[in-house]
Amino acid sequence: MTHPAGSSPSETKDYDAIVIGAGFAGLYMLIRLRQLGLSVRVIEAGDGVGGTWYWNRYPGARCDVESMQYSYSFSEELQQSWQWSERYPRQEEILRYINHVADRFDLRRDICLNTRVTQARYDEAADDWHVQTDGKQTLKARFLISAAGCLSAAKVPDMAGLADFKGRWYHTGNWPHEAVDFTGQRVGVIGTGSSGIQLIPTIARQAKEVVVFQRTPNFSIPAWNGPLPEDDQRAWKAQYAQMRAKARNTRSGVLYDYSQRSAFEVDEAERQAEFERRWQRGGANFTHAFNDIFTNPAANESAAEFVRHKIRSTVTDPRKAALLAPTDHAIGTKRICVDTDYYATFNLPHVDLVDLRATPLQSLVAEGIQTTAQTYALDSIVFATGYDAVTGALDRIELRGRGGLALKDKWAQGPRTFLGLMAAGFPNFFIITGPGSPSVLTNVIVAIEQHVDWIARCLAHMQASGSTHIEPLASAENDWVAHVDQVASGTLFTQTDSWYMGANIPGKPKVLLPYVGGLQNYTAICEKVIADGYPGLQFDAPTHQPA
Ligand code: NAP
Repeated sequence: MTHPAGSSPSETKDYDAIVIGAGFAGLYMLIRLRQLGLSVRVIEAGDGVGGTWYWNRYPGARCDVESMQYSYSFSEELQQSWQWSERYPRQEEILRYINHVADRFDLRRDICLNTRVTQARYDEAADDWHVQTDGKQTLKARFLISAAGCLSAAKVPDMAGLADFKGRWYHTGNWPHEAVDFTGQRVGVIGTGSSGIQLIPTIARQAKEVVVFQRTPNFSIPAWNGPLPEDDQRAWKAQYAQMRAKARNTRSGVLYDYSQRSAFEVDEAERQAEFERRWQRGGANFTHAFNDIFTNPAANESAAEFVRHKIRSTVTDPRKAALLAPTDHAIGTKRICVDTDYYATFNLPHVDLVDLRATPLQSLVAEGIQTTAQTYALDSIVFATGYDAVTGALDRIELRGRGGLALKDKWAQGPRTFLGLMAAGFPNFFIITGPGSPSVLTNVIVAIEQHVDWIARCLAHMQASGSTHIEPLASAENDWVAHVDQVASGTLFTQTDSWYMGANIPGKPKVLLPYVGGLQNYTAICEKVIADGYPGLQFDAPTHQPA
């Protein structure tokens, strides 16, 4: 474990800024804060850097944004020198990349590993933050910045009998660091989101028997992954700066082929041909085949039916095919999955599919999983059951602002932020990819860089003007929340029970957590705030009296 130079765990140390998390967001924030000459401590729960990509080591873990786009753009030398090996990067390769960044920019000396922030409290008198860790350290800083991530609070469902199960169980988001060998085993997988869809074909290549317990099917598009041709990589690098700028100016931060046509501007044959073209290209590009797929139910249904047809023509058992074809939600309103051999895996004789809607899971028992129909004997169980997304990581910290108000209580009816970056009543506190920002609807590295750059520019403005205190006005926050809700209400997202809506967590208010107005529009709004001299933000109105 690394401690601040010369300090013991029990000492109180002062910094200009404390950053929670050493994933993509925390590392880049550290770089930008150093450039401002600030003293920084990054607190990281894992024993290595990487955040999501440190924890998600499950078999088959891979990013569904292409390698050439899923990387930092802030350093031309970095983006020119790093070589990606596949079209979609494996978890191991992304983690190697993040570690390379940590070394290349000499970041480790400011990162405290193996340490979890348990409490953060704003001290009104001192106008600073007191941060408590599970190592019993107390750290003080003027600024607190959350880089805790949107998909980092893994959720193991409350299931009766978990303690009784005699085999081993795992969650995809908290995978062991030692190799897990399923050879010869009967493995149960609960969950068929992006993680389950990647994991199931990979485990099926090893295990003796795989039983997939599905509650809701998801739409998945083939990745057609493969080695990244050297020529493609060279072509990207020849115009990297322009490509990155173009990506930043899209709604999702990814250079997809965004159609400007409605699905019904073309006839049926052309519509099908367009879907087929995109299916053959692979990946999430599929849902951008027409510009009204996320807003027009009929356009959405035509895309959904195309995918259902693909499922039915791949899966030979009609029972399994019918179960795997989603009919309960509009395509894309749950995060679209990208797979390698997912549907074909169900043609293997040792892969079974259990419909938990027809025969609900009752409990785990000593020998496996019991549904209302039967008991499935299993050696291992994998929970691919997702996350308390976007707000979960912050909710797990006792984070208190003015008057001792807990952020969790402030957000009890749904998160309230200004630009997804700050919250009224929580001075000197920034959130990277917070709720109410495009975050999980984007290539998250693009969203991270935009947020980190904005925060750094805001802090530079404060340095230049000699202010040390910043807080959004309640009125500005109200206006932003109203705008986020208004944009959401024009889409199909709000009609689906998804983790985007907080619907996967019992008791969590159903609110569309990310801002759905598009990254490019959001960025323009943030730029205007800077250009107009930060309206909606109050500087230097601390409640404390200078000594
Ligand atoms: P997820 O999308 O939330 O999927 C969780 C799955 O578990 C769902 O099928 C859900 O069913 C099921 N489930 C949850 N609780 C259950 C219960 N009590 N009983 C039975 N089934 C239960 O989680 P995820 O697959 O980990 O993915 C989360 C997000 O992480 C993705 O959407 C994506 O943004 C990101 N991710 C990306 C990649 C990639 O880049 N390729 C890979 C993995 C994850 P219901 O739908 O019925 O709730």
